[in-house]
Amino acid sequence: MESMLSTDFQVKPKKFRLFFVVLLVLLLGVIWGGTYYAVRLVRENLESSMRSSIETNTVVLEEHVSRALDAVGARMDAVVALTPRYIEQPAPQAASALKQLIYDDRVIRSISLVDSKLRVVASSTMRNMGVSLPDDFLPESKTRPGSAVIDFGRVFPYRDLYEVGQAPIAGAENAFWMVSSPVRVDGAVYHWVAALNVGLFLNLWDRTSNDASTAITIYDYSGQVIATNRELAGVDQTALGAEILVQVKQRLRGYFDYGSRDPIMVSYRGSSDHSVILAVVGDPAVLMRQHSASLGQYYWAAGVLSLLLVLITGILYRWYIRYEISVSELSNQAKAMGAHLIISESDPGGRIVGVNDAFLAVSGYSREELIGKNHRIFNSGMYAKSFYTELWESLSAGKIWKGTFRNINKARRYYWVQVTIVPFTDAWGKISRYVALYTDITDAIVQSEKFLRERRLREELTRINRELVNDSNTDTLTGIANRRAFASFSDQIIKNTHHSAYPVSALMIDLDFFKTVNDSFGHEAGDIVLWELARRWSTAVRTSDMLARVGGEEFCVLLHNSNSAQAVIVAEKIRAITSGQPVYYEDPATKRTVEIPITVSIGVATADSLREVVMDELLRVADAALYEAKHAGRYRVVARKLD
Ligand code: GH3
Ligand code: MG
Ligand code: MG
Repeated sequence: MESMLSTDFQVKPKKFRLFFVVLLVLLLGVIWGGTYYAVRLVRENLESSMRSSIETNTVVLEEHVSRALDAVGARMDAVVALTPRYIEQPAPQAASALKQLIYDDRVIRSISLVDSKLRVVASSTMRNMGVSLPDDFLPESKTRPGSAVIDFGRVFPYRDLYEVGQAPIAGAENAFWMVSSPVRVDGAVYHWVAALNVGLFLNLWDRTSNDASTAITIYDYSGQVIATNRELAGVDQTALGAEILVQVKQRLRGYFDYGSRDPIMVSYRGSSDHSVILAVVGDPAVLMRQHSASLGQYYWAAGVLSLLLVLITGILYRWYIRYEISVSELSNQAKAMGAHLIISESDPGGRIVGVNDAFLAVSGYSREELIGKNHRIFNSGMYAKSFYTELWESLSAGKIWKGTFRNINKARRYYWVQVTIVPFTDAWGKISRYVALYTDITDAIVQSEKFLRERRLREELTRINRELVNDSNTDTLTGIANRRAFASFSDQIIKNTHHSAYPVSALMIDLDFFKTVNDSFGHEAGDIVLWELARRWSTAVRTSDMLARVGGEEFCVLLHNSNSAQAVIVAEKIRAITSGQPVYYEDPATKRTVEIPITVSIGVATADSLREVVMDELLRVADAALYEAKHAGRYRVVARKLD
């Protein structure tokens, strides 16, 4: 808001409202677009890290498994070569020799020899498999439950890796991985069964076992599952095995996506040295389900952010609407003030910085002539210097000043204004400018002077009217003033008001067809009529006006300070009260009361200024107007003005 007087002091609301909506939609778009993009990025990251994780796991697994298989293979080869000797020797010696030959190491946990009936012939540890040596106690694992906890299931082909399922050996926490190797002694088939120390890849195994989204499966080269730590839901292991076989035949190690809808990730490694295919499988759908909570957090955050945004925008919008209302209200107020008042604005130094059109009209200056000038140019020299000193002291103290000035305009004519000067402060409370609101009271001042003079005149005329009441001035029939009194009254008017510029009017009244009244009802009835009408008309005029009988049946009213319109109103009133009611007359001879209807014609003459009036002239014009009224058919008022 620069100035109350600036013309572009208004707001354009609709555009800003639209701006709010557009901004809100834009920000919401950014929030939700960003969220969608972030979630997609995170999902892609998760998927790619899953893929690299299962690929790494495959490598690690292969390293461990092949290392274990190489070690166990070498050990087996040594043991197998010595087998016939130990079979032939007596059991206790065989056991001790075996113990000397084979021992637990990092890779092999134990190694045992079983015969074709799956009875343990010898073992590297007694504790292991619950078998004690010498062979006075040979368990038949299938037939003697409880004595041997291990179910070998079947005799495995050489160097295959088997998991011995859910039948833990006492003290062993996890499943065993077994490698078996056949050996023939004297036509009988024995098997060396080695239990691998799974500690080497237990970590990996456990880790994947705890993660529902990945699985490790080991296949043999017929596509059969040798071991798996989990079966992924909805995945046909056999079909997957067949597919892996197809892939292995093309490339020994690789990666592929399996399944058309929500494909799972498969990383596999075949081996030319060992008869196993290692596969690590990942299900991204399960992974996403696992992360759904953290992914959901993004949407939660976006939701909360959006809500916050809507709230903040709502609050800002409300503020804005209030601001808009107050600004347009202010602009309306300024407009209303500007329409009603004369306004000027000055800087703190008293120089004019703005004026409205009303100010230009009253001062007579143009805007260019006023801007930058001091208000001193309107000084009419009416007030002492101390008056202005006090005014400025009050204003600089930040107080509103009210008062009246007599100013002088460009044409050197005085004008009166009632003024309220308001010191306007800026946001820091410092006076930035003075706004003066003026009302032009010149007319009121002139009017009040006029009113006073007029009242004095009226009082004077009333006094004269009273003084005239004596026999020589009074008409004997009607009791009102006679022609003589009328003449002296009009002399007095001219004498008393010779300075004033008031209008004056005279009414000439003549009864219509009065001769007929006399002829019909007699002269006496005519007199009664004259008396009655004079009585009625006296009430229609002011005490400061004069009603006089100037002829036989002719009357005159002199109205001071009455213009033509006002005089006509009085004339019409007289005409109305005359004909409004008949005059009643009781015939003394017949004692009968008769109704005498009377009408009048009135000529009105007005002079704008008494100063110029020659009374005879006024009466002559009134007479002429009356003559016109008669000629136009009587019973009417005709008004004329003096040139
Ligand atoms: P109009 O004015 O309408 O032309 O007709 P009018 O009959 O009134 O004519 P005019 O004004 O000329 O009449 C004057 C008559 O008024 C003459 C006379 O009979 C009557 N008159 C004048 N003075 C008196 C008076 O003092 N008493 C009575 N009773 N009659 C009077
Ligand atoms: Mg007459
Ligand atoms: Mg006459």
